[in-house]
Amino acid sequence: MSLRTLAILTLSWCLGATAQEADHVRGTARKYVKNLTAPALHGRGYVMNGDGLAAEWIAQQFVGMGLKPLKADHFQPFQFNVNTFPDSMRVSLDGRSLTAGVDFIVDPASGSANGTFNLVHLTPADVLDPARRSMSMGVLSGHAACLHFPATTDADTLRLYGEVERELMYFGPVVKQAQGKLTWGVAQEARPFPLIEVAGAALTDSTESITLNVRNVMRPRHEARNVLGWVKGRSNKWVVVGAHYDHLGRMGSEALFPGANDNASGVAMMLALAEWFAKHKPKYNMLFVAFAGEEAGLVGSEWFMVDRLVQASQIKLMLNLDILGTGDDGITVVNATAQPKLFDQLVAINGERKLLAQVKARGPACNSDHCPFVKRNVPALFVYTMGGIAAYHDVLDREETLPLTEFADLYALLKEFLTILK
Ligand SMILES: [Zn+2]
Repeated sequence: MSLRTLAILTLSWCLGATAQEADHVRGTARKYVKNLTAPALHGRGYVMNGDGLAAEWIAQQFVGMGLKPLKADHFQPFQFNVNTFPDSMRVSLDGRSLTAGVDFIVDPASGSANGTFNLVHLTPADVLDPARRSMSMGVLSGHAACLHFPATTDADTLRLYGEVERELMYFGPVVKQAQGKLTWGVAQEARPFPLIEVAGAALTDSTESITLNVRNVMRPRHEARNVLGWVKGRSNKWVVVGAHYDHLGRMGSEALFPGANDNASGVAMMLALAEWFAKHKPKYNMLFVAFAGEEAGLVGSEWFMVDRLVQASQIKLMLNLDILGTGDDGITVVNATAQPKLFDQLVAINGERKLLAQVKARGPACNSDHCPFVKRNVPALFVYTMGGIAAYHDVLDREETLPLTEFADLYALLKEFLTILK
């Protein structure tokens, strides 16, 4: 056997995930996801210091692995405004009470309302026809608007409906039927009154009143922190492996959004890769970043680029991990068509190792933390898994039902990809 053959065999033995390593990766990933989704971290949002506690926990993992801080500690602080709902929240229709997160959500930009309001039922014509509009707005005072807008997928119509809803939230409480499942979010601003989205059949044409006990608290200049840890490589250039750790937090004290798939799963992968590269010196400096504020509008990753702890021109690759908890149908790689060489490398490794069912290319999309990097011409890829569960931005995105189906195979793929990166 030649030295070269021996070297290749040794390399492929090191890179191929042994059954033992796969078990270890699956086991630790499960523990990471359990910790990050525990009620004690409050959905890693903006009530009960959920995001702050999650940041502390991640920094502890970095310290335990021996990752170095870029500055005095592992944190990169920044601020943004965020709307929150810290108190008990009650909503009932004609005296029948609804369950938060299951029967209803409040729009993330909701304001406060307390009391019982008679409903004024409105169709699109009532608010879009100029002749009827001022009459409709006039009778709303002291009431709640109940919107009966027909279901549509037309983008222009949806935009128009959205504008009407936002405007009505300046007049009084608004209630509407949810289109499809309840999907919550985070808002950086608040309007004066709440908008309630109701699931199922609880809201009808003949519903007469809504009783609301909803209080929002704006947190101006909320203190958030990205968490950073790095491993020195043999080059001055950097590879950034990022995953956002923030989620939606709590909607009132009753509804918890644990965010297992989104994005405890991505943080678990980032930590698994960090653990490996902390023990196996990489070619490039590897910077592992747990981003804050993604759900609020990619605020943490934008701040990372603005703060310039690492110059954009020095970054060889940014790999963004967001939603990695399934994989039955393989992975999608966003920005693949803009980075064909990097994408082809992933496809080649996957073909050789027979890991995932599919590695699918998608074009550029500003839908997660890779976006602020792409905007500054940093080569970046965003990977998410496909298939399996459909829970997303709802109370059902829980650790108990997160399969982590292809987690170990995806780990093997990404580890090799980062190791042989040219
Ligand atoms: Zn996400």
